[in-house]
Amino acid sequence: NEVLLEAEGLKKYFPVTKGLLISKVTGWIKAVDGVSFQVRAGETLGIVGESGCGKSTTAKMLLMLEEPTEGTIRYQGQEIRNASSEQRRAYRSSVQAVFQDPWSSLNPRMRVRDLIAEPMVINLNLSRREMQDRVTKLLGDVGLSNYHANLYPHEFSGGQRQRLAIARALSVEPRVIVLDEPVSALDVSIRAQIMNLLKDLQEEYNVSYLLIAHHLATVRYMCDWVAVMYLGQIVEFGPTKELFQNASHPYTKALMNAALPSHPDIEQEEMILTGEVPSPLNPPEGCRFHPRCPFVMERCSRDIPEVTELAPGHVVSCHLY
Ligand code: SF4
Ligand code: MG
Repeated sequence: NEVLLEAEGLKKYFPVTKGLLISKVTGWIKAVDGVSFQVRAGETLGIVGESGCGKSTTAKMLLMLEEPTEGTIRYQGQEIRNASSEQRRAYRSSVQAVFQDPWSSLNPRMRVRDLIAEPMVINLNLSRREMQDRVTKLLGDVGLSNYHANLYPHEFSGGQRQRLAIARALSVEPRVIVLDEPVSALDVSIRAQIMNLLKDLQEEYNVSYLLIAHHLATVRYMCDWVAVMYLGQIVEFGPTKELFQNASHPYTKALMNAALPSHPDIEQEEMILTGEVPSPLNPPEGCRFHPRCPFVMERCSRDIPEVTELAPGHVVSCHLY
């Protein structure tokens, strides 16, 4: 499918400063350090990794909530950094977001009707009547009803609030929705409902998703493509089925073990993920995973692994390959 949204060599470094009055930069937190991927029309790309791996910062850069330190974001071939203010406005409308609990940050005194309509007021030129009709349609599409339009956010459960967030994001007919941990805060029993809803809506609205998650089960269920991130970098990438069948990077295998304790294809001694994630301030030299890797070799602490293609579209960065 056509590439809609593209990141190339994306980096985000945050300065570490010392001193209160005259602050001096003493180092850089390399939250995202050279990440590239493509989101294609009507497809879902998942970015998975432990907390602190840089996946949320990546999402924020795509949403223009953080300015990249380096690298390029392109939407339909157009570089965002060089876009006109009109193009940037159109981009903000075309690329919407759903966060873990977005309604916690919305005005609690506004009725659901107005909260869902708000992006339309900003981005679309619709009559009051058209907007009302659209709110009704959206509520139906996310499994709620017009009755809910007059309620306030606190009157909803977590799962219902996520349905509302999805309706709000869809209201301006985006081409891409960034889903940052959309089901992580929900009860396990609700998660599948929301994931199925997202899948149905993807068909109906022909929207692409960039899904940020730390649960492998979520990306496995939702995604066409999966990128595994570790300490600011993508260490393995591929089509979902291929990646889960032939997980190759020791970190990916370790994540799978943590998620699927009795995974039959992985040997027991390969499976234990020990130690804390090192700080993205002064990340390890060579392969960033080497302090935790059960297969570490001498060169791993010295040489940065190159990208190797194992199967069509399936790439890994590790000296074992
Ligand atoms: Fe482990 Fe070396 Fe591969 Fe890094 S490059 S994942 S340390 S084997
Ligand atoms: Mg996060």
